[in-house]
Amino acid sequence: MKLIPLPAFQDNYLWLLHDGQRALVVDPGDAGPVQAHLAEHGLQLTAILVTHHHPDHVGGVDTLRDATGAAVFGPARERIPQPYAHLNEGDEVDVLGLRFHVFDVPGHTAGHIAYYCSSVEGAPLLFCGDTLFSGGCGRLFEGTPPQMLASLDKLAALPGNTRVCCTHEYTLGNLKFATAVEPGNTQLIHYRQQCEERRSRGEPTLPSTIALENSINPFLRTRQPAVAQAARAHDPAADPADPVAVFAALRQWKNEFR
Ligand code: ZN
Ligand code: FE
Repeated sequence: MKLIPLPAFQDNYLWLLHDGQRALVVDPGDAGPVQAHLAEHGLQLTAILVTHHHPDHVGGVDTLRDATGAAVFGPARERIPQPYAHLNEGDEVDVLGLRFHVFDVPGHTAGHIAYYCSSVEGAPLLFCGDTLFSGGCGRLFEGTPPQMLASLDKLAALPGNTRVCCTHEYTLGNLKFATAVEPGNTQLIHYRQQCEERRSRGEPTLPSTIALENSINPFLRTRQPAVAQAARAHDPAADPADPVAVFAALRQWKNEFR
């Protein structure tokens, strides 16, 4: 199995997984890079997995479906290009001989879903759309802080070796913010250096892992005293004993952060 982040637009990744013959793609906002890769490597697209309805995630769905006959899967509670299989929490998708479990992860959008496979050649794999980013999380366009925190907690509880396939290369900006929140986190300092080196070589910083995110991502660390205190220092109304209040203060702080 090969896992490939195809760059698209400014900073999107269209994740492609293939076994040398058949492929699946996640959130193809643009058909072009996907079709080029399929042609170059002689791959047949069998499935398109969609996490949420934003144009940079669904823009290429119709073109790819028409060109390849691939089956399309997406969130039941959002409007994405028809026809597609409507998925909810607890549903399973069997593709490329793998079984993906569906989680509801509302917050960025109201019906956002994520896809998790417990073993792809020995290690779990997560396609989380715009819910979790390395060092950050999606903006709350349609959801509330309690919803998004519950969604992130669900992902944070997955096995530590789960590879996390985020759909944007936002890592360096996120880590700049994470460092402002937790300047004393040595793992964060080390990871930020690694990511700066990768980006300077033009390489993606992704996939990340759940263990790494749990140690460096402030939005998964709202129960850490240092993070809670930093949130309160920024917003005195945020009760450091209330993870939702800490999360909301961090998200607001990040929205204004330069
Ligand atoms: Zn989005
Ligand atoms: Fe996006």
